[in-house]
Amino acid sequence: MTWSTDSIIPLLAKATREDLAILKVHSHPNGFPQFSTLDDKSDGELFDSVFGWTDSTFPHASAIMLPDEDGTMFGRAILPDGTFQQLDSILVPGDNLHFWTANDIGKLPSFTQRHAQLFGLGTTRKLREMAVAVVGCSGTGSPVIEQLARLGVGRFVLVDPDKVEEKNLNRILNSTHEDAVLGRLKVEVMSRAITEMGFGTEVEIIPEDLATPEAVKKIAECDVIFGCMDGVEGRHRLNRLASFYVLPYFDLGVRLDADGEGGINGAFGVVNYIRPDGTTLNDRGLYTLEQLKSAGLLRTNPKAYREQVEAGYIRGVAVDRPAVISINMQIASTAVNEFLARLHPYRSDDNKNFAMASTSFFHGFTRRDAEESPSGMFFNNIGKGDVYPLLEMPLLSDEGIT
Ligand SMILES: [Zn+2]
Repeated sequence: MTWSTDSIIPLLAKATREDLAILKVHSHPNGFPQFSTLDDKSDGELFDSVFGWTDSTFPHASAIMLPDEDGTMFGRAILPDGTFQQLDSILVPGDNLHFWTANDIGKLPSFTQRHAQLFGLGTTRKLREMAVAVVGCSGTGSPVIEQLARLGVGRFVLVDPDKVEEKNLNRILNSTHEDAVLGRLKVEVMSRAITEMGFGTEVEIIPEDLATPEAVKKIAECDVIFGCMDGVEGRHRLNRLASFYVLPYFDLGVRLDADGEGGINGAFGVVNYIRPDGTTLNDRGLYTLEQLKSAGLLRTNPKAYREQVEAGYIRGVAVDRPAVISINMQIASTAVNEFLARLHPYRSDDNKNFAMASTSFFHGFTRRDAEESPSGMFFNNIGKGDVYPLLEMPLLSDEGIT
């Protein structure tokens, strides 16, 4: 195979300017499932000149596509010393989630048998090989974790800075009175529950919010994100993170409005599936930039925030809304089913038509909205990976400037 180097010159210039990695992809139409000796030679030559040109110490990569039904891909990193290192997995998060791993985990654990009957061994294996980040381990987060763990997800990164309180016991699965009395961290309670299932699942806990570089880096190493938080700042940041690290992001939201006299003004739950290159939560009207600003002000300068709310310049950020376990669990199930349907497309309709699933418990209906054309708000960030400061946010620099 030969190809002109004309196409690569502008890419090299861009890669040098922004310290990006070059990924070379080619196909093996005959289905040959590994790198050939010819590939070794051509990758060696190409990346030798790439390293010579860009002067970077970060690895580049080379991948191969096969013509099978699954569109299998595999690849390797090319290190500055010219050696190759196999990529453990490749994830392509479009409307469907394509996920291929290099390792054979062998026999599946027997607890997965009954859902493997429905989803097949392939999908069940993928779940076992996947790492999932769940941000927020409370009302919707805990039932998401419970379901994913029993579906056989192999590794979790759990993020939540809060401790269990008495007022949480109405909805956090596996939390106990003792946890509330002792003030155990929510992430510890979740980790304990997963460990006690005895599936050998790996769990990493991060008792912090998304304002720390540590949390961002650990989430970035996962394959899928579930956002189970209240508040617009965390949502905005996860959406941004999903673009930088090319990750699929499922966002869950529940909103209950009581009239204070036993009546309900509104009861609403929504699951959004966000593609890294698709519409953002902001595009979909989940929050406005003004709300984002007020949430930021509340965090950085509570006094100025109160003054602005009182003067009527901004609307207050609601705290301590009502919360009901049955509604949370339904929304959590919708989100997990959405994830399964994208990993193992089985619905009669295309996945692009399920970008947003909203349920009104008040009106008694669920509607779905299709993916639309994105504003491109995060387009410049797609696939940039680690930058300094992380996510190009001053908040995440060493000094932690807000
Ligand atoms: Zn080849």
